[in-house]
Amino acid sequence: MIIAAITGPATADAEAQIRASAPFASMFELRLDLVGDAGVEALLRLAGKPVVATCRPVWERGAFRGSERARLNILDGAASLGAQYVDLEWKIGRGPIGDFMRRHPATKVIVSRHLAPGELPLPGREYASLRRSGGAVLKLAFDARDACDNALAFEFLRLASRDRQKAVGIAMGEAGEASRILYKRFGGWATFAAPEGGPPSASGQVSSRMLSRLFRADRLNGKTRIFGLVGNPVRYSLGVYLHNPLMERGGANAVYCRFPVTDLDAFMATLGKDASGLSITLPHKERMLHHVDLPDGAALAVGAVNTMVRRRGRWRGTNTDAAGALDAIEEVQPVRGKRMLVLGAGGAARAIVYEALRRRAVVMIANRTHERARRVARALGAEAVRLESVHEVDIIANATSVGMAPRTGETPVPSGAVRAAVAFDAVYTPPDTRFLREARAAGARTVSGLTMYMHQASMQFRLFVRKDPDKLLLRELLAEDAPATSGNLS
Ligand code: NAP
Repeated sequence: MIIAAITGPATADAEAQIRASAPFASMFELRLDLVGDAGVEALLRLAGKPVVATCRPVWERGAFRGSERARLNILDGAASLGAQYVDLEWKIGRGPIGDFMRRHPATKVIVSRHLAPGELPLPGREYASLRRSGGAVLKLAFDARDACDNALAFEFLRLASRDRQKAVGIAMGEAGEASRILYKRFGGWATFAAPEGGPPSASGQVSSRMLSRLFRADRLNGKTRIFGLVGNPVRYSLGVYLHNPLMERGGANAVYCRFPVTDLDAFMATLGKDASGLSITLPHKERMLHHVDLPDGAALAVGAVNTMVRRRGRWRGTNTDAAGALDAIEEVQPVRGKRMLVLGAGGAARAIVYEALRRRAVVMIANRTHERARRVARALGAEAVRLESVHEVDIIANATSVGMAPRTGETPVPSGAVRAAVAFDAVYTPPDTRFLREARAAGARTVSGLTMYMHQASMQFRLFVRKDPDKLLLRELLAEDAPATSGNLS
């Protein structure tokens, strides 16, 4: 159940939010501390779906500043007007909660507890105390510091579902996004969503449209396999916008989330145990290798993993950046026997050099920090060069982060300094970089980082769900005007 929290602040805003969120939400929460109670009757009529009336006081991280009596009067009023659910704070005590239930026997009470900023729950203790309140639904919310804290919300839900107790467990903030998506996977009753066209009522709330259409949160179940991206930051990654629609198209009971992770070991010891597969990005690609039971040749040679899948309880790891980049380049030019200059000596460069050598290219590496280029060249069997000493190659590949947004005016090599028949850029934000534009103007055929991304993501998808991705859909999702690539995301 997706509950869109209606935040107003004007009644007209609230009405617009109800109308816009209706296709994605099965219930609404009227945040009367934000909207006020003047238009409750009209809003209840407009909703046409079950409504939770909430009037959150400032002492529970809400906005209502009036007296406790005034607050309970507002909630009494909403219940009398037909709100099917009323949210009462656990802190008001069992007496007032019981009194409210007696006054409104037809109204279901959600007893909620929002921990103080920075406080983490002990799920067992919090569940036991909430359960004593006798609420029809028990709700626990707290701030997540890191993605591993989602596991505390899921533990709370597991305890409740064992008792067939309806419950909501929310880890707030960006790190808690998974708790808002995966609630059904762990037996939760509902999730709270930001309304369409209005501000969220809590930090980290995902829009009702994204929860419903992209993550299919209301259609997941106890058997849904969990995949996701581990990194920091992960907010601007394309993965969720590709893997979720491809999983849906492929009929896979699977979902792909974002896990912003600082403490990798803690994540792998908690939420990681529930995952069936992971993509890994900066800064964890190298360290994640320690958590892989069976790394393949590419992962070992590159010294980094960007893809892991769990098979029979053991993590297999590989690096799809390597083949992804080379498959992209070979769309326009087979590399065997060709002279290829790779710019950079970081993770992407190492993956590209490794795979280019495997496909029998003659590889040179140039990097701002020459010593690093020498180390990579020595380890993989290529030649380290100074950029100034190279004037012509068959293929030039930018594997530095130069030119990446927001510094899109920069290029890793002065215009015309190196002539090449083919220019490839690993950078994909933006898809058409200054480096590629200048290479094209000089007559080169160009290959963008988005094509590499597409190839590496297809390989991941195949490893994750053991099916080929729908190629047409994949190209559509990565088209320049698609929401994910144009940056126009809701
Ligand atoms: P990384 O490990 O941090 O390496 C960054 C590289 O860029 C280093 O060689 C660094 O040189 C160089 N560099 C950074 N700033 C520079 C500057 N101002 N001038 C010259 N060189 C500079 O990063 P990575 O993981 O390899 O990623 C590199 C790029 O590839 C990123 O833009 C990333 O988004 C992209 N990428 C794309 C895909 C895809 O699917 N298309 C996949 C993976 C990565 P020093 O050694 O001197 O610091």
